[in-house]
Amino acid sequence: MAAWKKELTIVLLLFILVAIIGAMSGLFLLLMLLLTLWMLIYQIRQISRFENWLSLGARNSYPKSTGIWEDIYYHVYCLRKNEKKRKKKLTKMIDQFRQSTEALPDASIVLGANNEIEWTNKAARDVFGLYLADKGQHIPNLIRFPEFIRYINSRDYSEPVIVPSPVNNQIILSVRIVPYGAGLRLLLAQDVTQIKMMERMRKDFVANVSHELRTPLTVLKGYLETLQDIDDGYSPVLTTSLLQMHGQTERMQYLVDDLLLLTRLETQQKPPTCVNVPELLSQICREGDTLSARPIELTLETDTQIMGDEQELRSAFTNLLGNALKYSPDDSVVKVRWYRDKEGVNLTVEDQGEGIAKADINRITERFYRVEVKRREKVSGTGLGLAIVKHVLMRHDAHLIITSQLGIGSCFTCQFALKRDCC
Ligand code: ADP
Repeated sequence: MAAWKKELTIVLLLFILVAIIGAMSGLFLLLMLLLTLWMLIYQIRQISRFENWLSLGARNSYPKSTGIWEDIYYHVYCLRKNEKKRKKKLTKMIDQFRQSTEALPDASIVLGANNEIEWTNKAARDVFGLYLADKGQHIPNLIRFPEFIRYINSRDYSEPVIVPSPVNNQIILSVRIVPYGAGLRLLLAQDVTQIKMMERMRKDFVANVSHELRTPLTVLKGYLETLQDIDDGYSPVLTTSLLQMHGQTERMQYLVDDLLLLTRLETQQKPPTCVNVPELLSQICREGDTLSARPIELTLETDTQIMGDEQELRSAFTNLLGNALKYSPDDSVVKVRWYRDKEGVNLTVEDQGEGIAKADINRITERFYRVEVKRREKVSGTGLGLAIVKHVLMRHDAHLIITSQLGIGSCFTCQFALKRDCC
């Protein structure tokens, strides 16, 4: 039988018994009142015992009781026991998690909504010079690099920021923030000293080799030109060889020049000036007109000038126009357009050429990537032109959008952020 039914039966029996005794003794009302009073006092006492047991944490075994109260004690005792077990399991899990994150080689810091430190692992304390006692401190007060503070306040964490370690500036860190939960953020920092060192070595190597190759190539080309000029009855084999040698030397010179330009783009940063893009485009198109018999249609829909480096922009735009002329038939039109829309200020170079396959579009901005196409005439190039364009645009808060259809043509759009506008 359910406990409450048992309890009710006992109460009813008691009342019937007392009612009978009351009726027989003529004290019905008094006995009934006494019984009700006694029951009330009994329940209040039980409630008070229960409350007392709960206030002590309901940790120990429950006091001896009867009826429905015994069941209540038993159920609460079981709930407490299960909760204790779950808590123990959770604490063990949290401990294991703490131990594993503590042992992580990468620095991890949990930040609150106001950039306050909530938790740090050992690597974070070592590499950022933090202490356990720094919990609650605002991280920009402790790591004071301007680029780090700008990054943390930007709320745009799509790219990591590179900063030196405040403890040892020889250590280079790549810091990334990952937002999670309600306003919490996880700051992860990875030691990229080795990668950066290798990158610098690669850049230095390419720059040095390119630089050293420049003089011998100029000398070689000079001698080849002299030999071609004094051609007094060379055999056809020698004439062709000289022509090919000259062509290849020239190609090597372009390669060296492009490599040097790329190195400069990666390593040097000049203060931006206001560049008159419409004027620059007019010049480049005029030069293009003289190089090729092809009509170039230039449309200048805005006179917007942008902050940047004129030499770099000239190089990027010349590469795009050069490609449009190189990879489209002689009787087709190349369109150049400078215009403004709500996305930014745009330059499009559109051709009616051979187009680029979808699979190649993502790769043509890689260094030395050239699309394998069977053409009637071989088109010369270094495979570095679009890599230069990409770098130049990156340095000008702009990006390159390429759309193309095989056999129909290609359209290269340089989209500059509106904040680059000179005015
Ligand atoms: P390249 O010196 O070979 O022109 P780029 O980096 O400028 O080097 O271009 C990479 C490749 O992208 C080219 O080899 C060519 O296959 C392709 N490409 C670039 N521009 C165009 C274009 N306008 N039309 C078709 N293909 C193009």
